[in-house]
Order: sequence, then structure tokens, then C-alpha cells
Amino acid sequence: MSRHRSALIAWFAVLLLALCFNAKSVSAQRRSPGPVTPIPAPRYILGFSPGDEHTIADWGQITDYFQRLDKASDRVLVQTIGETTLKRSLIVAVISARENIMALAKYKDMQRRLADPRMVTGDEERDRLLQDGKVVIAISCSIHSTEIVASQMSMELAYELATATDADTRAILRNTIILMLPSANPDGVDIVANWYRRTQGTPFEGKEPPELYHHYAGHDDNRDWFMLNLKETKAITRLLWQEWFPEIVYDVHQQGPNGSRFFVPPFFDPPNPHIAPVLLRQVGLLGHKIAADLEAANHPGILTNAVYDTWWHGGFRTAPYFHNSIGILTEAASARLMSASLVTREQLAKSSTRGLRNALEVTTNFPNPWSGGVWRPRDIMNLELGAAHSILSMAANYRLSYLRNFYELSVRALEQQPNGPIAYLVPAGQGRDEAVAKMIDTLIGQGVEVFRLERELHARYGPQFLQRTNSASEKLGDYRMIVAPTDKMIEVPAGSYIVFLAQPQRNNILALFEPQIYPNRLNALGQAERPYDVTGWTLPFQMGVDAPAVIAIQEPPAARRMTLIRQENDVRKDLALALRQGGLSPVADPLGRSVRIGIYKGWTANMDEGWTRYVFDTFNIPYKSLMDADIKQGGLTDNYDVIVLPSQRAREITEGNAPGSYPAEFIGGISSAGTKNLKQFVTEGGTLVCFDAACELPIKQFNLPLRNVLEDLKSTEFYCPGSVLGLEVDTRQPLARAMAGSADAYFINSSAFEATDASVRVIARYAKERLLRSGWLLGEDKLKGRIALAEVSVGKGRVVLFGFRPQHRAQTWGTFQFIWNALSEVR
Ligand SMILES: [Zn+2]
Repeated sequence: MSRHRSALIAWFAVLLLALCFNAKSVSAQRRSPGPVTPIPAPRYILGFSPGDEHTIADWGQITDYFQRLDKASDRVLVQTIGETTLKRSLIVAVISARENIMALAKYKDMQRRLADPRMVTGDEERDRLLQDGKVVIAISCSIHSTEIVASQMSMELAYELATATDADTRAILRNTIILMLPSANPDGVDIVANWYRRTQGTPFEGKEPPELYHHYAGHDDNRDWFMLNLKETKAITRLLWQEWFPEIVYDVHQQGPNGSRFFVPPFFDPPNPHIAPVLLRQVGLLGHKIAADLEAANHPGILTNAVYDTWWHGGFRTAPYFHNSIGILTEAASARLMSASLVTREQLAKSSTRGLRNALEVTTNFPNPWSGGVWRPRDIMNLELGAAHSILSMAANYRLSYLRNFYELSVRALEQQPNGPIAYLVPAGQGRDEAVAKMIDTLIGQGVEVFRLERELHARYGPQFLQRTNSASEKLGDYRMIVAPTDKMIEVPAGSYIVFLAQPQRNNILALFEPQIYPNRLNALGQAERPYDVTGWTLPFQMGVDAPAVIAIQEPPAARRMTLIRQENDVRKDLALALRQGGLSPVADPLGRSVRIGIYKGWTANMDEGWTRYVFDTFNIPYKSLMDADIKQGGLTDNYDVIVLPSQRAREITEGNAPGSYPAEFIGGISSAGTKNLKQFVTEGGTLVCFDAACELPIKQFNLPLRNVLEDLKSTEFYCPGSVLGLEVDTRQPLARAMAGSADAYFINSSAFEATDASVRVIARYAKERLLRSGWLLGEDKLKGRIALAEVSVGKGRVVLFGFRPQHRAQTWGTFQFIWNALSEVR
């Protein structure tokens, strides 16, 4: 927008403000008394109404609006809760009745007690908490930045709550405290706003930007909610699970353009076994309330019981289940960013997902199909505002039952269970101090209680692992979980960590420490049904940390609760130190010359590339991002010793975005010239490190003596969509330095190789025994004993081929060492 036009709008805004505003009384000022400030509607500040076609408010405008709302309304308090990855302020607007806003500290304290009944002195205090408490509801907008409408909607919703005087709104304000996050990823709001403005009026208007909309994680910024790698996740997790303990979390998303108009819970199968049934019912109840209200308001196209499941842990709306809270997801059909789209009946007829055969058929979970036409950002906003209102009014009307259910779930979590483990142990002296520190830090960060033994303890404990129930059929992945504890009480050394299950977050601990057994979900043709996200994520397995289950302890432990979270910089310093002490220097070769590393980065917004950068940045390993043009230009040997190709299909690397799909500068990949230059780089002595799908490029283009044995298999034969698998490691190989003979690796529709000649050096194979460690695996015979990590010499250099993802979502600390080895083994 031109400066002239902005000024004009500002002038109009002043004029209009004088005419239309909701004045607030002087007595309502909660801070120092000042002059009456009118409460401005978003359109008078922005110059457009949020949700208007072809408009977009960026993060500066959104935060500015919320600051004004904070100043003008005694119902709104805006707080900065942290800084984003790219150093923007992350804000929350706390919205409630004036008297509640004046007493937030009191309500926070009450929430803490409701979340942990051990802090409640007795029935009398409990009853008082239930009587006086408020339902806390977090609403998070646009964590996925291209799902942009919610961030715009947040201003409208906040304005309505700040100004409305109807009985419904007054009940909401009286009975609830709303934590409004206008965006869980402010950096992405600006990436999308800048891109949208830049492409407006061009053929590319409404397309997604050709870069990750979170600096490291892109879309995976909503896959980090138990790992807490990202600054945004850490800050919001602190707000939710250490400060406010919300009863309800509403995460506002958008889905693809051509299916249902709006998905609301109940979710699809399978549910996670560690979600309390009553919680699943409450999730369903709120979803149906939204659906019923929207139907009543004549919104067609509302879908329940489809697509999205509750199996996977790690999303904004899934983490609450493991904190005894209700997590609601809605997914509105997308427009083209802030431009309208046209959806035809043909497109709707072809749209098919789990729980929906096509978007025109009337079914019980989709009783009122939308018949197609123009779909506008405003349509999305109306659905989201409607859903928010349904949730808020339910919470206000049934305040007591939400509080009671929340409290009772925590009570139940504290009860001793008759069978099964009583705790998990992280024994001292296992030689993975940094991974252990990170894991403990991650647990404490989400509010899990962790104790450190001050004296030794005697306990019966042992590993938990999966065992096949039917050895006759290798095709079927029927597994059960085994605990193999010691016969006798064994001494556990002082300094070990212990995580007791009898704490409010029992279900979170179980969901993170147990191996997952994803149910076999096959259709009538025997094809695997794709899960919503990954199927296994067991934290200690991914992190290479030994964390056995404790069956019994002999004496009350002398232990201290860990409260201090290690500072990130400390961890980094320690890591650098640990690597040096281990004789490992990922940033220098044996002569002390620093290794020059390039990480390939195309214009296809590859999340694996982002996570690779995250891991390198976290460990202070210098690198340069290598763009298509750099690789096409050649001369790589002069500037790099190691080039890393994050997981990406060969064709995507060489061809990139198709001609005409984006402005010219974002078109194409490294091309055949780049492939030739990469080969020359290796021949001249360079190291090419390939993750998972990227192995395809050198295997096929350099004619390496390897073959991906999984390449052409159908899901009736083999399927493994996100699981932890066992590896057998040849520890004599330099690439296996500091690794044990067995390791766990992350496999997500990944690769497995067979060597076609003897020149291939095999560093690790997929395990022949106990291959599935956590998740889902069909057809394990296809994988057993196959090559998982190999090295091949080409000319003076070499190619390192990871069949799995050694840095998956920066969660797999157990296999980072392979990467360091690959970097430091430069000759
Ligand atoms: Zn989303």
C-alpha cells in the first residue's frame, strides 16, 4: 500500500473513530486512570475489515491492533510471552470480564491447583476451586501460516469479546478466561503476508510461498509439541502447561480447498490408548456442538469423524489430551490465501478422504454437503468465528462440569495402577549425558515432574519392547508389549533420573516412554490406510537414551525434583565440549582445518532441509545453504568439503518447481548440470551426504552399486509410515565411531538398500531381530537385514547414504552421531 493511501486511511480512521466506537467508562480503567479511550474496530485501524478479500494484516498490524485493544479495553490484557525464531514478539491476549482480568494471578493459582490435586488441601478447598474457578480456553490461530484467515479472524473475535454487551458474551466473559494467540507462528504470518502482497495481481496470486513458513520447521511447526525444539513451542508450552493449565485448547486450521467446508471433531480412528475416554467424549461433544450450531446457522459442508485422528502425539491440539485437557481442531476449506477460489461439483465429487467418500454424498457424519461455487476468506472466517463462539458459550454454560472433569482426570492420573510400571528410570552413567540432559529438559519444559536420585536406590526394572504375537505370519504386524524386569532388586546409582507415573501427566509419560503399537488398519484389498501423521515416536528410543520401566522399588527414594531448565546455551557449550572430549570435531578435519559444509536448499519448501539446518545451528556447526544456482554454477570443490542433501526425491532436486508455477527465480532445480557438478565434486575428493529419499540422486545418476529394495513395493506388501526401527551397527567402521552395536533409527516411508557389488561399505543394517521398536510396520521381511547406512567411494571422494532420517524433526538424537561422523571423516 502506498504511503499516501495509508495516510488517507489513517485520516479516515480518525474521522470514523469519532463516529463509531464503543466507549468505555473511566472507572473501567484497570491500570493508571487515564482519558477515555474508544475501543477501535479492526477496520478503523487496518483500513479494511479482517477477512476482506485481497487484504492481509501482517504481524506488525496484528500486534498493533491488539496493543490498541489492550489500551482501550479493560477486558483485554496483551502480554509478550517470548520471541520467535526470527525475533518477533510472540503475544497472547488474555480476554475476560474486567473483574477477572484484575485478578489473573488468583485464577492462575487456582488453575495450578485444579491441575494438580496434590496441592488441594481437602474437599472444602476443592469445592471452593470448582465454585469460583473459570474455564481457561486457549485459542491458537494460524500456526500454519498459509492457513492465514484465523490470524485475521483473531482481531475480529477479540474486538467482539471486548465490546459486545449481549447476555451470551457477558456469560462468556464472566465464566471463562480466554488466552488468544493471534498466531503461534508470527514469522510465518509475515512470510505469507509479504508473499501475498508481492504476488497480488500476478498469475501467482494466492499460491503458497516457495519457502518454509517457519524458518526451520515449515508445516512441521505443528509437530513439535512434545519435543519443544522451536522457540515458539517452548514459549507457548510454558504459557499453557506451566502457567495456565487450560481446560480447553482450540487450534484453528485450514485444510485443502476441495473437500468438506469445515472439519470438526469427533476425530477418526484410531484413538491413542492413553487418552482418557471421558476426554475423547468431551472432545466429541464440543465438536458436535460446533457442528449443530453451524448447521442451525445454515452453514453446509460440515464434516465430523473423518481424516484427522488422535493417535499421534505432538500437535497443538493433541498435546492437551496428555495434560487432561480438551483439544479441539477445526479445519476450514482453504481459499487461495486471501483470494477467493472457485470450487466445482466435479472437484467435490472427486474429493475423498478417510471418513468421506466424496464431498457431495450425504452421510451421517456429513449430512449437508456444500454444492460448490465461490469460496471466500470471509466464508472461512464466519465458520471459525462460529466455532469459537460455540466453544466459548459451552464453556461458559457448563463451567462447573468442565472444571470438575479436568480436576477428576488429574485425580485419576495420581492413583496407583494395579499393574504395569510405576516409573521410568534414566540411569546415570549411560554415557549420553547431552541427550539425557535434552530429554529431561524437554520433559520438564512440558511440566512433567522429574526427580534426580541423591542416593542410590534399589529397584526392579527393565526395558519395554515389542514382540510379535504371531511369528507364523511376517506380513501381519501384530505386536504386544513386553517388559523384561530384573528378577531381583538392583542398585540404581545416585544421579539417575526417575519419572514417577503417579503424577497429573501420567498419560503424557506413558505416551512418550512406551513403544507405540499402531493397530493394523487395512482395507478390504489389504492396502494400508494412511495414518494422519507418524505412528511411533517413543522419546527415549528416538533420543538413544536408555529409559527402562520400573516395576518396584525397595525403599522410598532420596530424590530432588528437577525444576531448573538447562539453558539452551549451556547445552550447546556442553555439546561442543563433549564432542571434543570424544575426539570428535565436527567442524574440523584431523589437521584442524575447518570443514566447509553446504546444505542443499531448493525452492520447494523442504521441511527436512529446515530441520537439518536446525540441528546444525543447535550444535553450532557452520554451514552454507547451497541454492540451485550455486550447484549449477559448479566449482564446488573450491568451496566445500561436504555437501548434505536433505531428504527429497531426485526429481524434485533436479527439476524443482515446474515452469509457470512460480516467478522465474523460483523455477527449476539443480538440473543435469548441477548433478554433473555434484558428481565432479565427489570425484575430486568431496563428501556427499544423502538423507533418505535424496539417496536416489547419486544412486541413479552416479550409477552407484546399490538399489533401494523398497522402491516399487505396494502398501499390501510393505508399509512403514513413521516408526522407530532397530539397526545393527558395524562399530568397526569409522562412520560408526562412538555408536553402540545397536541403535534405533527413524523410518518414515524411507529407504533400504541392497549392494550390487562388494565395494559398498555397510555401516548399519535394519535389525534381523526386534526390528519394529515403535509404531507400525507391515512386511518386515522386506526390510530385515537390508542396508540402512552405507558409504561408497567415488573417485577420490565418497557418498554417504542414509536410508533412514538421522535428524527427523530434530528428535532423533540417537542417530545424530552418524551425521557428525559423516562430517568429520573428511580425508
Ligand atoms: Zn494446518
